[in-house]
Amino acid sequence: MQRRLIIAIDGPAAGGKGTIALRLAERLGYVYVDTGAMYRAVAWEALRRRISLEDESALQALAESLDITFRREEQDGHVRYRVWVDGEDVSEAIRRPEVDHASSVVAQYPGVRAALVEKQRALAREGGVVMEGRDISTVVLPHADVKLFITASLAERARRRYEQRRQAGVATTLAEVQAELAERDRRDSQRRAAPMRIPEDAIVVDTTGLDVDTSLHLVWRLVRPHLTSEDGVQAQV
Ligand code: C5P
Repeated sequence: MQRRLIIAIDGPAAGGKGTIALRLAERLGYVYVDTGAMYRAVAWEALRRRISLEDESALQALAESLDITFRREEQDGHVRYRVWVDGEDVSEAIRRPEVDHASSVVAQYPGVRAALVEKQRALAREGGVVMEGRDISTVVLPHADVKLFITASLAERARRRYEQRRQAGVATTLAEVQAELAERDRRDSQRRAAPMRIPEDAIVVDTTGLDVDTSLHLVWRLVRPHLTSEDGVQAQV
C-alpha cells in the first residue's frame, strides 16, 4: 500500500534546515514538525518556573507534563507554525537568546529526550510529515523514507543568525553569535544522549553560499524520486 512519506532532516543551528523543511512540507502538503521548538518550550518553561537547569528529574517531569502543540498559520501568503504550551502561545518567547543556551542544556538529559521523542513519534505516525532536529534520522524516526543532513560553514551560519538577531533588535556582535553557535554545536554533538552526528544513510546538503531557493531546489531533487501516487505532486518541478 502506498502512503505519504516520512522525511527526516537534521543539522546544526542556522544551517538552513528550518526554512527548507517548512517550505518542503508546504510544497508537499505535509505537516512540518520543528523538534527544536519542543526542547525550547521545555527550557522556556523551566526558566519561567525557576526550575534549575541542573535538576534533571524536575526537568524530565516538566517535559512529560507539558502539552506542546503546533498550529499552522497563514498570513499574507506566509506560512508559519506557532508553538503553544498548555494553552499559551510561546512562539516569540522560545526564540529569546537565553533559550538558545538553555534548550541545549535541557536536551542533554535522557529523561527529557525520552518524553519529547515519544511526542515526536506520535506526530509522525500517519506519515506525510517533514520533521527537523538533531537526532531525527538516528533516533526519532530511523525508518524515515528520506534522510537529509543540512548544514553550512560555521562562519556562514553565524552571519545568518547575526542578521536575524539584528533584525529582531537584539544587541549583539557577529563574534558573540559565532562563539555561541560553536558552543551549542559542541554541546549538541558531544553529549552522551543522542548526540548530533551525520547519519550514515543520510544525504548531506551543504548550503554554504546558497540562497534558500537554490537549497530548496537541491532538496526537492533529492526528495522527488521518493514520492508516491498518494502525494500527487510528481509533475511539479
Ligand atoms: O533547532 P533549534 O536550534 O531550535 O534547537 C534548540 C536546541 O534543542 C538545540 O541546540 C539542541 O540542543 C536541542 N535539540 C535536540 N534534538 C532535536 C532538536 C533540538 O537536542 N531533535
